[in-house]
Amino acid sequence: MKISIIGAGSVGATTAYTLMLKNLASNITLIDINKKKQEGEIRDIRDGLSFSETNNIYGGDFKDAKDSDIIVLTAGVAQKPGETRLALAEENKKIVTSIFKEIGEIKSTCIVIIVSNPVDVITYLVQEISGLPRNQVFGTGTSLDTARLRSNLAKRFNLDSQQIEGFLLGEHGDSEFVAWSTVNIEGKPVSNLLKKEEMDTIESEIKNEAYEIIKRKGATFYGIATVVTDIVEAIVFNQNKILPVSFRINEPDFDIPDVCLGNPNLIGSNGIMKSWPINLVDEEKDKLKKSAEIIKNYL
Ligand code: NAD
Repeated sequence: MKISIIGAGSVGATTAYTLMLKNLASNITLIDINKKKQEGEIRDIRDGLSFSETNNIYGGDFKDAKDSDIIVLTAGVAQKPGETRLALAEENKKIVTSIFKEIGEIKSTCIVIIVSNPVDVITYLVQEISGLPRNQVFGTGTSLDTARLRSNLAKRFNLDSQQIEGFLLGEHGDSEFVAWSTVNIEGKPVSNLLKKEEMDTIESEIKNEAYEIIKRKGATFYGIATVVTDIVEAIVFNQNKILPVSFRINEPDFDIPDVCLGNPNLIGSNGIMKSWPINLVDEEKDKLKKSAEIIKNYL
């Protein structure tokens, strides 16, 4: 298993470190235009190799990613305090297009996981330009936001977060929403356990969490690195794990534009194995449609 991480910034370097700790790859390549940073991160992570099953972590050029089993894309500009993810669209579209041009033809079975923001816009772009089947290219979508929902509810109800099910859906950004009709704790709908005002507060806390973290420490990277590692694990062990990744939604009934956005899909050895159709109430269908329209504008 060779995993290439493009972008050795906060998210890329932390992801390399987390993948090494979880023994998910025999070889990890870390690639950045900033060669000094790339080298520094590699040398630091390499000091931990003797405690892991990973054989090697090394640097490279974009072309070194072409024979990877998995590519994780984290390169580009990141949000500054108060900046939306969509504000990064123009610059990151240019960066990502030039990166894939330089990589050239990628191994036909490679799976590409997009992290760079705005993740839904960049995922659609890479699906178009990478030359890979669409099911092999998807973004982290609302997986991080969903993880935040689970830990928020776990803390509130004093429970293990793994007992909480449900999704945030739509854009990984300001138009995302909690699909409360899908949220339950071991079979109990959470909407029966909370008042409307409490649900609104929780939703707003989750939607603002990245802004709050960036305001305090300049970036978010531990949470997203853990999410990427969870996705890689689903691919490596063919787990058919259901996650709200960014992918074209397969719900003709929802009447939404052709975009990639956070919605539940089964992740396994071929990337997206199949979609996981969801029953949403009408208000949630409207929110999903609005979110899709916002993404469409940025495409
Ligand atoms: P960062 O600034 O620390 O790192 C970005 C890296 O990309 C830098 O090292 C930079 O040198 C590199 N880079 C820039 N242009 C490049 C190019 N042409 N080729 C190769 N490398 C290039 O940023 P970060 O905090 O690591 O965030 C990375 C991206 O991930 C951002 O777009 C951020 O918004 C996004 N992000 C997404 C999620 C999510 O849930 N999807 C969560 C957190 C961050």
